[in-house]
Amino acid sequence: MATEIRPDIAELELPELEQALADLGHPRFHARQVYQWVHKRGVTDFALMSDLGRDLRAQLASQFAILTPRVERKERSSDGTTKLLLRMADGKLIESVYIPDTPAQTFCISTQVGCAMRCAFCLTGKMGIERNLTAGEIAGQVRVLARELGMLDARFNIVLMGMGEPLHNYEATMKALRMLADEHGVGLSPRRMTLSTVGVLPALERLATEPLMPNLAISLHSTTEDQRDMLVPINRKYGLKELLDACRRFPIKRRERITFEYVLLQDVNDTPEDARRLVRLLHGIRGKVNLLPLNEAAGIPFERPSDDRVNRFARILSEHGVTVSVRKSRGRDIRAACGQLITESSRTAAPGKRLAMLMGT
Ligand code: SF4
Repeated sequence: MATEIRPDIAELELPELEQALADLGHPRFHARQVYQWVHKRGVTDFALMSDLGRDLRAQLASQFAILTPRVERKERSSDGTTKLLLRMADGKLIESVYIPDTPAQTFCISTQVGCAMRCAFCLTGKMGIERNLTAGEIAGQVRVLARELGMLDARFNIVLMGMGEPLHNYEATMKALRMLADEHGVGLSPRRMTLSTVGVLPALERLATEPLMPNLAISLHSTTEDQRDMLVPINRKYGLKELLDACRRFPIKRRERITFEYVLLQDVNDTPEDARRLVRLLHGIRGKVNLLPLNEAAGIPFERPSDDRVNRFARILSEHGVTVSVRKSRGRDIRAACGQLITESSRTAAPGKRLAMLMGT
């Protein structure tokens, strides 16, 4: 695959783009026009930037590329969920998902190719990590989804819950969020962004000091240190107690809450005792719980609990004053549901190799 040697203009925040244009001898306001074409209009060719002079367009084209994830495949579920398989400039593949009416329109975005966290119930984790995505690649998924779905002018939310752990790719993730928030591009309010993390503590503490603060979701999934060590291996380094202490210190905005995600695995973490322990653990934290009955997949050694067990768990939380919701699984027929993102190269590997990947061996 040919490697692009011109710098990627979609990788620049607006102040960087203003500087780049100033260095070429152009007024800074042209940077705002270019930024809007790239990030808001999803344009991939300088020639289409019709409010720029022909000379400037030619100069930009000679100096910069506009790298945009390429749609390799688009799958639409019977429930309207749409999954894009996207190819990066270096050939790497990731997946991004559009989820309708949840209740808003939501784009689920990836931050890494694969994931290093190796959560025991997640297919992406079985892939391991290939590399971090750049800020331009993270933000680029939003404009590609918006363009493909005819939503360039629509309102939508984004959740960083696709492939990867966002806080394990901190700089690029935060840069991408700033780029998406810029009013000259998508202009996405931080209230419409949710960052989901398993709890990479030093990065979580750093996030607490950021001027741009997305909503926070914590992938908790367990109520004891021993069990979380097994389900979410980063717990061996940053334990449950430390994580919840960090959540207590986290500067949550007024009227907002931390979402605690809890994947329900039959006979593993879905008992009444687990529910009561969860109530006690969350005491004193302004939070809510989102229960995710497991999306079963080959190679994942857990089962989805029955609806009765899910409802029993939810009822115990609710009776103890914890706000709880049960996530409706979307896009299961196209493997776009939570924890099911795994790219084609992994999926089409020889059966033996694929099994080895799924089993993490
Ligand atoms: S659940 Fe999230 S953090 Fe855990 S392995 Fe999967 S993608 Fe990574």
